[in-house]
Amino acid sequence: MRWLVLALLCSCAPAQIDDSKLVDLTYDFDSKTLFWPTAKPFQWKKDAWGMSPGGYWYTMASFSASEHQGTHIDAPIHFAQDGATTEAIPLKQLVSPAVVVDITAQSAANRDYRLTPADLRAWEKANGRIPDGAALLVRAGWGRFWGDRKAYFGSDKAGDASGLHFPGVSKEAAEWLVKERRIDAIGIDTASIDYGPSRDFIAHRVLAAKGIYNLENVANLDKLPATGATLIALPMKIKGGTGGPVRIVAILR
Ligand SMILES: [Zn+2]
Repeated sequence: MRWLVLALLCSCAPAQIDDSKLVDLTYDFDSKTLFWPTAKPFQWKKDAWGMSPGGYWYTMASFSASEHQGTHIDAPIHFAQDGATTEAIPLKQLVSPAVVVDITAQSAANRDYRLTPADLRAWEKANGRIPDGAALLVRAGWGRFWGDRKAYFGSDKAGDASGLHFPGVSKEAAEWLVKERRIDAIGIDTASIDYGPSRDFIAHRVLAAKGIYNLENVANLDKLPATGATLIALPMKIKGGTGGPVRIVAILR
C-alpha cells in the first residue's frame, strides 16, 4: 500500500522547472523598442505612481502600440484574407519543437541575404528532418544590432520603409517549407521574415496562405541549440488582431 501511495505521489507531483533550461526570446517593450518605420511606436505612461491619499502604495500605467513592433507575432490574416486572427491561432500551434537554422555567416557577408532551400537541406543533412509541427527559427545574428535602428533596419529614415536592408527568407525557401514540410511557425531575429528590400512580402504571403504564423524580432537565438528546445510563444489575445506583442520562451532539454 505504501508503495502504491508513493507511486501515485510520484506521478501526480508537479515537475520541477529548472531555471537554467528556460530561455527568454523576448525583448523589453519600452520607448526604445524598434518598430516598423511606418508603424506606431510603443507608448507607456504612468497614470498613478506613489503613495495614495489612503496611505498605501499604488501604481497604474497605460500603453498603446502597433501590433507589429518589438518581439511580435504575425497572425496569418496579416497577409492572407481568410487567415486566422491572433486569438484564433490554436494553442497547439503556439507550443512547438524549435529548430534553429543559422545563416549568421551568410548574413554577415550580405545584409540582404535570404534563406534558401539549399540552407534548409544542408541543415537537415546535419540535424535530421525538420519535424512536423516545428517552429523554424532563422538566426541571422541580427540580435547584435538590436536597439540601433540604423544597424538593425539598414536605414533610420522615419516613416520611410523604402531603404531597408536586413536578412530574411526567400520565396523559394518559403515554398519549399509549405510543399515539402509541415511547420507550424517561422521566426527570425530581424524585423521581418521578408528581407529588407522586399516590396511584395512574398514569404509572408506563401506561409500565411498555409496558416503558418511568424515571429519577428526574436531575441537570444544564439542561446538555442539547432534542435531539442520546445518553443512557447504566447501572444496577447487580441480578438480580430493581425498580430500582437508576444512573450516567447524556449525550454531546453
Ligand atoms: Zn509583423
